[in-house]
Amino acid sequence: MRFFNTYSRELEEFEPRDPAARPIRIYTCGPTVYSRAHIGNFRAYIFEDLLQRHLELRGYNVHRVMNITDVDDKTIRGAREAKVPLAKFTEQFKQAFFEDVETLRIKRADEFPAATDQRFTDRMIEMIGALVARGLAYQAEDKSVYFRINKFTDYGKLAHFDLTELRSTGRVKHDEYDKEHIGDFALWKAWDEEDGDVKWDSPWGPGRPGWHIECSAMSTALLGDQIDIHCGGVDNIFPHHEAEIAQSEGVTGKKFVRYWLHCAHLLVDGQKMAKSLGNFYTVSDVLAKGYTGRELRYALLRVHYRVPLNFTWDGMNEARESLGRIDEWLARLEEVAQKGNVQRSTPNAQRPTAAFEEALDDDLNISAALGFLFETIRKTNRAVDENKLDAASASAWLDWWKRINTVLDIEAEVEIIVPSEVAQLAKDRENARREKNWKRSDDLREQISTLGWEVRDTKDGPKLTRRGAA
Ligand SMILES: [Zn+2]
Repeated sequence: MRFFNTYSRELEEFEPRDPAARPIRIYTCGPTVYSRAHIGNFRAYIFEDLLQRHLELRGYNVHRVMNITDVDDKTIRGAREAKVPLAKFTEQFKQAFFEDVETLRIKRADEFPAATDQRFTDRMIEMIGALVARGLAYQAEDKSVYFRINKFTDYGKLAHFDLTELRSTGRVKHDEYDKEHIGDFALWKAWDEEDGDVKWDSPWGPGRPGWHIECSAMSTALLGDQIDIHCGGVDNIFPHHEAEIAQSEGVTGKKFVRYWLHCAHLLVDGQKMAKSLGNFYTVSDVLAKGYTGRELRYALLRVHYRVPLNFTWDGMNEARESLGRIDEWLARLEEVAQKGNVQRSTPNAQRPTAAFEEALDDDLNISAALGFLFETIRKTNRAVDENKLDAASASAWLDWWKRINTVLDIEAEVEIIVPSEVAQLAKDRENARREKNWKRSDDLREQISTLGWEVRDTKDGPKLTRRGAA
């Protein structure tokens, strides 16, 4: 297996740090919960999901951490404007994030640490203290603590640029005269009145941690000093990931990350997504247009992660068509596998090979892997048409599908067929509830239950599930 490492700018053979003893440790930068995440964010999360699932398919045990940034300038401003406490303000967007994760069938990380968790703020303060003690950080006149980038010789290596270039970025804020170097970044931001009651005590006075130290603290606290793979979007390379390296290695003296993997941008109609251009979409915006989570997952998954993905509504329709072809193919295979009465299989038998997995071994080349899938669909469909696919081959392809679908996770949800008697009782119960006839409503629930079904009232109306089913 090989991956393109942003640090070396080369494809490298994947060698876990500790293959025998421990799971693969992956850290992925998560959302800042000040609004709903957009589909560009989810492209990166789906790429990370693909990475984890492929490693698991290949027999690795994965332990993945994704942080939730629930304190920063944007969340504080949002809470202030909404006139609610910070935690209350961010909670709604955390919930929305997890809903979207579920809609897109993204495997949940093993841990979702939040920046405001005392355990991690303590760790951040501890790390900043160590950096100050080593001369790698200093407190400026504005009371904030900054990382001294000139003291960290590898600074700029991930982004592949020279410190002198930092002078020309033009991003000079009015308060930056306090810093020794324009590129020095904040580890600890001193409290000011705009922060309201959002503050923690520290050896440098009240304030809050910077964004970068958050990820260094959480990754080292939860995954140890050295991790196997660190992911994010290309936007994160500089300054965020560059800063993470400086902080983590500055404290531990060990190489922080073995492989840095970054996902390219998502464009919408060929342009960068921006609220001002009216091309800014969240997952719920896409669902509101009548598409499903599965269709969006497929649309965001199907392009190689290092290639910019152009999101269009035509592309969504193509995703729907491709999934339709898969659904139809699976139904045909099921039919052949069950019948088992076909005379002979074709020569060179069209039995599954490892081509799909091998394409993913090559820096997660999903385009090639899907190319192989659709080539397979074409060939086996033809064999079925010509009555040349035997039941054993059809079963073998279905087994193959089950295996690769642990990575893709794009199969249609099985429709639950509710018996008409149960459906009628549920309808009667709805009417009883509308009339506030709770006694009758309860009786009907009992009757539904006796028939082996359970009715749950959700915000989308009553849902029927088989009793005892998940
Ligand atoms: Zn991060």
